[in-house]
Amino acid sequence: MHDPTGKSSGIHTPGGRPIKSGAARNRDSALGGQLDLGGGYVHWAQPNVWTEVERHGLEQLNPPLESTTYYQLADDEVHTDKFELTHELVGKLFADSRQRFPMPFNINAVDNSDINEETLEERIASLGLSTRDSDLIKGALSGLVHNYSKHGSTQLLFAVSSNFGNYAAELETASNWCITGGMKKLTDAIQRNSKAKLQLSTAIKRVTDDGKQVTLTTASGDKLYAKTAVVAVPINTLRHINISPALPPSVSKMLSDGNPVRGSKLWVVPERDLGQVERVVAVGERGRHGCGGLVRRGVVDA
Ligand SMILES: Cc1cc2nc3c(=O)[nH]c(=O)nc-3n(C[C@H](O)[C@H](O)[C@H](O)COP(=O)(O)OP(=O)(O)OC[C@H]3O[C@@H](n4cnc5c(N)ncnc54)[C@H](O)[C@@H]3O)c2cc1C
Repeated sequence: MHDPTGKSSGIHTPGGRPIKSGAARNRDSALGGQLDLGGGYVHWAQPNVWTEVERHGLEQLNPPLESTTYYQLADDEVHTDKFELTHELVGKLFADSRQRFPMPFNINAVDNSDINEETLEERIASLGLSTRDSDLIKGALSGLVHNYSKHGSTQLLFAVSSNFGNYAAELETASNWCITGGMKKLTDAIQRNSKAKLQLSTAIKRVTDDGKQVTLTTASGDKLYAKTAVVAVPINTLRHINISPALPPSVSKMLSDGNPVRGSKLWVVPERDLGQVERVVAVGERGRHGCGGLVRRGVVDA
């Protein structure tokens, strides 16, 4: 599910032919420095990305900095001693992850239609907790969720199940270890090693397969031809591409429903030496306290 290399670039034509890619942009420069958008962390428990990390000699990762205090805003009070309790509460929230996704490589292994529409808000409410304890859970999830009543519960159940049924393990793999110099180091290394021809900043508007060849039409009307095309754009983008022949009804339904997740992260790394500053984690319910989210280790991850 995750491709934190950011190497995917929308639409490819495989099979030894040059790869043409679509709207993918170079990771940008901005604000006087490099701006890394999207995936930020890698982990050796992710075999595909780790193979690439090792292949390019980038396995000297920045270890996570341990925090001295874990501040939690819950029921309008700041707590500093609820870390263990929160761990238990989040464990309860995802207690059935392995039953729901016993074999994460097969998402249909059991019928989960009863919770397909369940939001995280509903799942948290179903535990019947106090406001404080519900807020503790919401704060703990704030780095991954932007709106509890729009975010479905199955996505995180799946992610937790893929990490041994343990939410802490899911967080360990998804938010701890980063490549020195940023993810661009990895994408640049992969591109340097590849013979693929990249065509960035070229949005594809139409994909037509006539059975003999695939024609890709760009936003500016240019046409690219290929035997095969692999379309790997996000759900919310895919629905704006005109694809012919039409996609199966189940896929069209998924595209029109869209992906409600609109999370974004902002890292602000002060230039001065963080060694002198207390390393803290501070979490609060997303959306209720300004930008909400997670502030940690001198880095805003909101
Ligand atoms: C803020 C943020 C932080 C994240 N942090 C992590 C992390 O730390 N670790 C982790 O493992 N995962 C992380 N993820 C998740 C990870 O980035 C995604 O799961 C992964 O990038 C998905 O890969 P993908 O190839 O499916 O899609 P994408 O990486 O989104 O690639 C799709 C590509 O398609 C291109 N495209 C879009 N429209 C068109 C078009 N019309 N024509 C042609 N091309 C088009 C896009 O430009 C893009 O390059 C994060 C995600 C976000 C948003």
